[in-house]
Amino acid sequence: MSYQPTSPAAVNPRGHACLSFDFDGPSLWMMRKMTTAAPVSRGEFGAVAVPRILRTLADRGVPATFFIPGHTIETYPDVCKMVVDAGCEVGLHGYAHEMNALQTESEERAAMGRSLELVEELIGAAPTGYRAPAGDITNQTIELLLEHGVVYDSSLMGHDYQPYRVRVGDELPAEAAARWGPESPLIELPWSWTNDDYPYLEFVAFRRMIMPGLARPEDMFANFLGDVEWMVRDVEGGVATFVFHPQVIGRGHRLLALEDFLDQVADLGVHFSAMGDIAAGVSAGLEFGVET
Ligand SMILES: [Zn+2]
Repeated sequence: MSYQPTSPAAVNPRGHACLSFDFDGPSLWMMRKMTTAAPVSRGEFGAVAVPRILRTLADRGVPATFFIPGHTIETYPDVCKMVVDAGCEVGLHGYAHEMNALQTESEERAAMGRSLELVEELIGAAPTGYRAPAGDITNQTIELLLEHGVVYDSSLMGHDYQPYRVRVGDELPAEAAARWGPESPLIELPWSWTNDDYPYLEFVAFRRMIMPGLARPEDMFANFLGDVEWMVRDVEGGVATFVFHPQVIGRGHRLLALEDFLDQVADLGVHFSAMGDIAAGVSAGLEFGVET
């Protein structure tokens, strides 16, 4: 049963939680030019973790969206097929986790085209969603996404519970007010580092800095849950997007905490929704995330 970008999600007044998993695999470390055995093995662990995550989701009947780089699809075809067979939505996430702003125009176009072909082949349909590797997009990214019929992006942080349209061509002169560009048809389903497992949990020693991570997952999920509770209280039909990485969340103590979090969110009457269904709802004119 593969995910079909189906009918739009009906607006649930208590709100929606979108669970997204960026299945980066080794490509995350390739982006950092950390391709010796140890960092690559950290990426490999993502492939170990995905089946565990799929079981956790299936046990609860919870939908999810996986953003998968083309490189991961080519490296772990069987695991990626499991994601599709589990009924999860799959969106684009670059070919080898390239940072858009550091690519030339032709490099960005090539990576987008190649990743699109691989996702399309995997899911048997054109993907409707995109998350930028390392979370940044350029004007060209927006143009390429629209050119390829992609409906939504999830790389920006301009709101928390409300989808919005991505602008193209903003100008930020140093000594004058911002000049916002016009809205494009691309729908933004915003995320935030505050709702991402990576900075909370992942320890990384870079050459010049340490990212400490290794927080208690219960503390991270207390933050996540607080955002859901505020949404339920103060927002009508909000959409809260959470970002996970299999190579990060897939360890025992973290999976236990994830299970508790999913149960707590369900107890609040919040619907779990695939991001594609929310985007379809926005396209159909439904209004999500109205502050009350
Ligand atoms: Zn990623």
